[in-house]
This record gives sequence, structure tokens and C-alpha cells, in this order.
Amino acid sequence: MRIVNDLNLKRQARHLGVEVWQTPGFLFIILGVVAIIIMTATFYIAREYDSPEALILLESLVVAVILIVGNTVIGTFEQIARLNKMKSEFVSVASHQLRTPLSAIRWETELLLSKFRKGSISEKQRQSIENINAMGIKMTHLVNDLLDVARIDQGRLIIKKEPVDISAIIKEALAEVSSIVKARNIEAVFDSEKKTPLVFGDPEKLKMVVDNLFNNSVKYTTNHGKIEIKLTKKDSFVIFSIKDNGVGIPAEQQERIFNKFFRSDNIVKYQTEGTGLGLYIAKNVVEQMGGKIWFDSVENLGSIFNFSIPIARRSKK
Ligand code: ADP
Repeated sequence: MRIVNDLNLKRQARHLGVEVWQTPGFLFIILGVVAIIIMTATFYIAREYDSPEALILLESLVVAVILIVGNTVIGTFEQIARLNKMKSEFVSVASHQLRTPLSAIRWETELLLSKFRKGSISEKQRQSIENINAMGIKMTHLVNDLLDVARIDQGRLIIKKEPVDISAIIKEALAEVSSIVKARNIEAVFDSEKKTPLVFGDPEKLKMVVDNLFNNSVKYTTNHGKIEIKLTKKDSFVIFSIKDNGVGIPAEQQERIFNKFFRSDNIVKYQTEGTGLGLYIAKNVVEQMGGKIWFDSVENLGSIFNFSIPIARRSKK
């Protein structure tokens, strides 16, 4: 809808991949102008001549113009919807195809690394294989993210619903980032109410959301920063919050933060790695589990990301 409201027709055409004359904005302007001209003409003709035939002719003209313009608008949208579907299918097929060779690369590198333990390769060779392995892991994450995005866009993302110990997920995620947190002198604190109830959701997807929020807080917090994680209970939900005193998000870009591929301008100078897919996936996953995700952020001061997830007890009723 934002594209349709965009008054810059050239930009609208570029976004939609159509000619300027085919953009909804241009067609609506034409429709408006034609309607005004014909209505004015109808008024004058009706005043000057007592001719019902002329009025019927003019009204038919208005209807014909509306039909032609409407048909062109529908055609443009059908074309866009078709292209969008093709794009999602392409991403899905390409990601599936990439998974097999990627897995093979990772098996082979693991095999070579096991040879190092037996002393068959040198330290330098081990380092190179470690690097290949690390790149393979990164690419696997990217491919998995692209697959999830394609599934979300096609409405095929499957979310399990079962009781999950979210506190255990946080501890696991914390343990996984502990070496990088230590290396960067970041203080990470987890504060939970004594007994957090089980939540109702998909354990793997919840871990993915928590990992993404953790990694973002670590990535976008400068050395010696502080990260606070909290679990609280509110009504029939558990609320997860992660607060950092990092680089924050510029106010004018905050409304786009959950958009696919969006990365704010300010992080480029601190940290260039990332795809802008994590929060888009997180939002869809949390909402499919019956929760909400939201944040507060001030540039150069920090951010707090929260999500809610239903408590298992209630959902099982
Ligand atoms: P990625 O981190 O791979 O770029 P995400 O979808 O996880 O993708 O995040 C999208 C963008 O939101 C980031 O690029 C960054 O601009 C902003 N962002 C997310 N979390 C934080 C945070 N804790 N502090 C500052 N900016 C953040």
C-alpha cells in the first residue's frame, strides 16, 4: 500500500517493475481527471440540451473508462503477484539445492579436521580447513534463513505447539555466546522470576528467535557494554526482554526494523555482517505461536527487544 501512496511515479514504477503509465498512481490520476471532465461535460450538456441519449452516452463513457483503468490496475497487480510467487519459489528451490553441496562440504571438512587429531595434516592446513568449515556454517545459516523466509512468504512455515522450558533455552543460548561475550568484555546478566512457567510453542524456533536477539545485542553493542535478559510473567504470557546499551536504532528507521532485508544505516560503521532477515523471521515465528514482538530503542544509548509467548497451562485447556 505504501507503494501505491507514493507520489513519485517513477519510483513507484521502479518498485513495481512496470512502465510509469501502468502504475496504479498514474492510472488513478487519469481516472480522476477523466471523471471530472465527463461529469463537467454532463452538467453542461444536461443544462443546454434536453437529450437523455447524450447523457446515457456520457455515462457509458465514464463506465467504459473505469472498466479499462480498473482492468489495467488488476492486470498490473496480477503481474506483480505472479512475479512475487516466482521469486519465492526460486528462493526456495535455490536454497534447497544449495543445502546438499553445503552439507557435503561440511562433512568433508569435519573429516579432514579429524585427520588433524591423528597428526596427518599440519597446523597451517588445519587453520585453512577450520576457515572453510566456519564459512560453510555461515552459509548454512544463510540458506536456512532464506528457506524460512520462502516458507513464511508461501504460508508454509510449520510451527510445533508443545510445552517448552524457555529458561533452559536462554541458558543454552547464553552458554553458546559466552566466549564472544567474554572476549569483548561484555557483561551479560540473566534475571528470571524464580519459577518461570512452561510456554506453549516450538522449541527449535524459540531457540532461533532467542539466538537472533542475543546475537543482535552482542553484535550491536560495543566492547565493555552490558546486556540484561529478563523473563517475567504477565497475565497468561511469559515476556522475554533483552536490553543492551549498544548503538541503538535511528528513530526515523524504527518502523522498518521488522522488514525483510532491512538493516539500519548506523550499524554499517560498527558491524557489517548480517542479512536483515533475523527479525523478519522472529516476528513471524512469534506471531504464529500466538505472541507479539516489540522494541524500544534510542540511537547511541541502546535497545530493548521483547517478545511474549503464551503460558503452556492456559493453551492446553
Ligand atoms: P541482521 O542483524 O542480520 O542485520 P536482523 O533482522 O536481526 O538482521 O536485524 C535487522 C536490523 O535491526 C539490524 O541490521 C540492525 O540495524 C537493527 N538491530 C537489530 N537489533 C539491534 C540491536 N540490539 N541494537 C541496534 N540495532 C539493532
